[in-house]
Amino acid sequence: MILFTTSEIYPFSKSGGLGDVAGILPLALRELGREVAVITPLYGRIYSTTYPLRLLMENCPVGYPWPEVTADIYVADYQGVPVYFVDRPEYFDRGEYYCTYHGEYFDNCERFIFFSRAVLAWARWLDHKPTILHCNDWHTSLIPAYLFEARQSDPFWGDVGSVLTIHNLAFQGQYSARLFWESGLSLSAWSMDGAEYYGSFNMLKTGIAYADKVTTVSPSYAREIMTSEFGYGMEGMLAKRARDVQGILNGVDYSIWDPRADPFLKAHYSPYDLSGKRLCKKDLLETMGLHSRFLSRPVLGFIGRMRWQKGVDLVLDILPELLEMDLGLVFLGEGDLETETSLTNLSEQYPGQLAVEIGYTEELSHQIMAGSDIFLMPSRYEPCGLTQLYGLRYGTLPVTSDVGGLRDTVTPWPEPGCTGFKFRRFEPEDFAETVRAAVDLWADPKGWEAVRQRAMLQDFSWRQSAREYDNLYRSLEE
Ligand code: ADP
Repeated sequence: MILFTTSEIYPFSKSGGLGDVAGILPLALRELGREVAVITPLYGRIYSTTYPLRLLMENCPVGYPWPEVTADIYVADYQGVPVYFVDRPEYFDRGEYYCTYHGEYFDNCERFIFFSRAVLAWARWLDHKPTILHCNDWHTSLIPAYLFEARQSDPFWGDVGSVLTIHNLAFQGQYSARLFWESGLSLSAWSMDGAEYYGSFNMLKTGIAYADKVTTVSPSYAREIMTSEFGYGMEGMLAKRARDVQGILNGVDYSIWDPRADPFLKAHYSPYDLSGKRLCKKDLLETMGLHSRFLSRPVLGFIGRMRWQKGVDLVLDILPELLEMDLGLVFLGEGDLETETSLTNLSEQYPGQLAVEIGYTEELSHQIMAGSDIFLMPSRYEPCGLTQLYGLRYGTLPVTSDVGGLRDTVTPWPEPGCTGFKFRRFEPEDFAETVRAAVDLWADPKGWEAVRQRAMLQDFSWRQSAREYDNLYRSLEE
């Protein structure tokens, strides 16, 4: 049995791509015949009512931060996959998952040490012993180290393997050394080849050091993170583990992201009949208060965290030019206060042409995907990226940078088989020029149609990725 440990899982919780992946990969593995369970924190913000939660166990002993501390365990049946929820309200019953506008929660390290230890405590109680603990990002990356130590002292764990998937290397969970001493890991883990990073306790590095296999979410990102440009200080450790590092591309949950049947849309459409897309565009213009003339002009969408990683500053740099070109612009997301304020001010300056929604709703996210013509994604780095894949499926052609998963998923115009547009030098002029090329092609309906149809027919479903994970698990189970 694969026990998938994650700090978020759609539709119960989600702050980004990890939530999407956790919501579909276990289902795809189950389709391959794998027995899978998921374990995740019980946040105050759990928002699915479709899958009710049932109390399974009270007072599961966790023993952190002091010996008598326990967690309650709930379970939901998520389309045949049990999802276990670790309940400890003082840690997880909060307004946000990890951070507020004032920064990250002061006790994040403690919260996820607690969660990681609860995972191992709970796994010990399960009827079916896991063969693999599949951990994700820094929040659960201490688990491989706990497992490594438990294997030495408890035969129960002897044949259990660990996989760590890195969804974003920039978030590492780095804290003061004091928290290491409280984590319960043994002294031998405190070394340059283990948990220590220049005198600090680095949770992600601990996972990279101790996991039996390390994966990341695209082949290109797997190569990039071994370089100082993209490695965020982990390149040395990753290079040391190179034989055990692999890139497996994320897929798309087409049961949620497909314009043929998307329940959030006013109209449906397919690669062979795009009349519904025009209705979606009309609906988007009305919802966001854009002028109806943009029904016959390109509308550009941006959905995502408004952060440095996503290159949203580059979009701001070229906005005057885009506005000048009489393009419609729609933004959805949240992030840096400064960016949010600049965009809000611009939307007041250009009403009817530029609309901004600060925050995030699934509904609007789907409506922008369907109602726009072009999707902007100038990421500085991109482990995989899902939104460009949604753009492809919705016939909203992506204009992207050429890094990580973007490199692996978008074939740039005018190459044969092109599905989108790419710029190589991370400079506003290059980005603007590429947007101009996209707008020029948009003005040529035949040319646009050919690329759009090809983009919509791309298949990034989870089947292939799940097979690769399955093979990886097998290599550890043999
Ligand atoms: P990342 O994980 O780096 O944010 P991805 O492209 O891999 O980017 O995944 C983005 C997913 O998260 C998409 O489903 C997108 O709609 C969603 N998303 C974007 N911004 C937010 C947000 N503020 N809150 C929740 N989900 C978001």
